[in-house]
Amino acid sequence: MKIIDIQEKIVPISSEIKNAYISFAKMDCSVVAIKTDVKIDGENVIGYGFHSNGRYAVSELLTKRFIPRLKAAKEKELLNNEGNNFSPEKIWKILMQNEKPGGHGERSTAVGTIDMAVWDVVSKIERLPLYEYLAKKYGDGNFTNKIFVYAAGGYYYPGKDIEMLQDEMRSYLDLGYSTVKMKIGGASLKDDLNRIESVLKIVGDGKNLCVDANGRFDLKTAIEYGKAIEGYNLKWYEEAGDPLDYELNSKLSETYKNGIATGENLFSMQDSRNLIRYGGMRKDIDWLQFDCSLSYGLVEYLRTLKMMKENNWSSTRVIPHGGHQISCNIAAGLNLGGNEIYPSLFQPFGGFPDDSLVENSYVTFPEFIGMGYENKVKLKDLFKKLFK
Ligand code: MG
Repeated sequence: MKIIDIQEKIVPISSEIKNAYISFAKMDCSVVAIKTDVKIDGENVIGYGFHSNGRYAVSELLTKRFIPRLKAAKEKELLNNEGNNFSPEKIWKILMQNEKPGGHGERSTAVGTIDMAVWDVVSKIERLPLYEYLAKKYGDGNFTNKIFVYAAGGYYYPGKDIEMLQDEMRSYLDLGYSTVKMKIGGASLKDDLNRIESVLKIVGDGKNLCVDANGRFDLKTAIEYGKAIEGYNLKWYEEAGDPLDYELNSKLSETYKNGIATGENLFSMQDSRNLIRYGGMRKDIDWLQFDCSLSYGLVEYLRTLKMMKENNWSSTRVIPHGGHQISCNIAAGLNLGGNEIYPSLFQPFGGFPDDSLVENSYVTFPEFIGMGYENKVKLKDLFKKLFK
């Protein structure tokens, strides 16, 4: 059982949207395919990986460091103890050879991208959906094919007025979402309050709306926005300040009584642990958004979930950033609180299999094996085109 080829390609996922901090006009993404000599129905098993929007392609890291390390490894070094499948943990160790701790930078994205492809391979070889494999091997054995999802959008866009924002949110309700998310912090507080109120008219209740400042605010502004939006009783107030400013987060949580969400830009178990230790996050009302594709992959994510357990945090407080099928699988197999989805953006990467059913912000998956990529026609076609 061996890996016979690993390729990386760059795919543009650019669009004219903006959040409070960045434009997505030049955004791109690394996509990796790991081809093995294992055959199912006469076809080689291939696993695919990619990373979340908001970070750029990591080609240099992949092609100069991580892919060569994997290619140089001996066949036995990549397999589990039974020798009947690849070992994500052993592969992770090989990838991280000669990497010092800390300063995670964007290597965590490169490792996360390969790691995603590895889990796709492993669950395909098991002929199980990844969520079922995770539940049986790493969880309590319980899994589901139905999870909470919310529609993320509400970006700033040239010429986008209130009516267009409302139309966008209406389109998410039409697709079966009842919970949506919109950006704040890219306009004045007055304009943002107007935008929030216009969306509340569409979604009906504050518990159906999340707002995301993308790390834009200093403490004073974060608290000012908090005071201004508290009365709406929103589902959560996301990334008010810099992702590594735990003190800001902690002080905000002392003044803002509703749910706070953050964590999408923390790229390791250690950084996530610092948030838990020092960020003032409240176990009963706040949300954690760690994104495995950006933070060394699922091998590291399992460490993060273990850390949470040790700190008496329920896995159900995690609703990952990124909108990926790997996070849908983790949510379904390891009892997370759900997953983010971008119904109108960053396609065809995000989402779930084509025949999934979304009702009242819960998605039910059809049968699939692996991540479910082959059940999403546009994504499957893209992979075919990229890796001929
Ligand atoms: Mg966010």
